[in-house]
Amino acid sequence: MKAGPCPRCGGKEILENVRMAVSVDRISSAPLVAVGYKRPDALLLKGSVQHETTATICASCGYTELYTANPGELARLLAEPPSLE
Ligand SMILES: [Zn+2]
Repeated sequence: MKAGPCPRCGGKEILENVRMAVSVDRISSAPLVAVGYKRPDALLLKGSVQHETTATICASCGYTELYTANPGELARLLAEPPSLE
């Protein structure tokens, strides 16, 4: 859908690069990110790597697709064996 019509309703008005956030409480929110860890089994200091997530949204029906920035780096991190640092 990123460049074309909505796969659900055929709508042609598509909103791109909409920032997504998670509501923490009624006042504050945090950006929605994809997270990978260099040391996933560590109790502390897991070495998180975060990439911003944005949405492409159909303005007619609300169908939403999520896209993660820099997915190649996340894929390399997930393919590596855990770091022992
Ligand atoms: Zn739609």
